[in-house]
Amino acid sequence: MAVNTEAYKNIKQELDAKNITLVAVSKTKPVEDIKALYELGQRDFGENYVQELVDKEAQLPKDIRWHFIGHLQSNKVKYIAPFVHLIHGVDSIKLLKEIDKQAQKNNRIIDCLLQVHIAQEETKFGFDEDELLNTNFDELHELKNVRVTGLMGMASFTEDMDKVRREFRYLKALFVQFSLLSSVNSHLSTLSMGMSSDYKIAVEEGSNMVRIGSLLFGAREYAK
Ligand SMILES: *Cc1c(COP(=O)(O)O)cnc(C)c1O
Repeated sequence: MAVNTEAYKNIKQELDAKNITLVAVSKTKPVEDIKALYELGQRDFGENYVQELVDKEAQLPKDIRWHFIGHLQSNKVKYIAPFVHLIHGVDSIKLLKEIDKQAQKNNRIIDCLLQVHIAQEETKFGFDEDELLNTNFDELHELKNVRVTGLMGMASFTEDMDKVRREFRYLKALFVQFSLLSSVNSHLSTLSMGMSSDYKIAVEEGSNMVRIGSLLFGAREYAK
């Protein structure tokens, strides 16, 4: 087992002191690894793949808060709607509407973060600045079973840490602007940014939720 419990304790302590939520990203890792951190008190875990999340949820304690951090397809929302705690990667109003529909079926309100495209790479999903600030979000008020509680973003995959910092700073500025829009409800509290390689920078730039995988669970093998 490659779980680094010492790293976990240090990172958790560092983040707790700043009131920052640590989401332990357990994608591709076995349930035993999740249990190891659960036993140390960790409750927020993040997964990227719907089927994997559903399988793990069934095998693990019910007080785990499951974060879906991957790219979510509309037709798969129904599988995670009964239990998911927070969906980070909402990249369209269409997806938000589907989450609302499935949340309603489960008699729940599901919290969501809008994903913002801050990296330069073309492949990243998410709203851009223009969409975020100029979309009429009034219709969100009709969606009674979802709450947009914040924004999420991923910086460029690069060694250039100044660039990463600029992207996080930009997302923080957008978060502030977005919070001020009258059409957005007042639940905006979460800014999810930062991963193993850049979470310290993200925290310096105003993140209050980080998603950390490999520092805690070891490197992933990408056979899947
Ligand atoms: C995999 C993943 C992470 C964690 O990445 P690490 O580099 O292992 O910390 C964080 N956020 C998202 C969206 C991911 O897909």
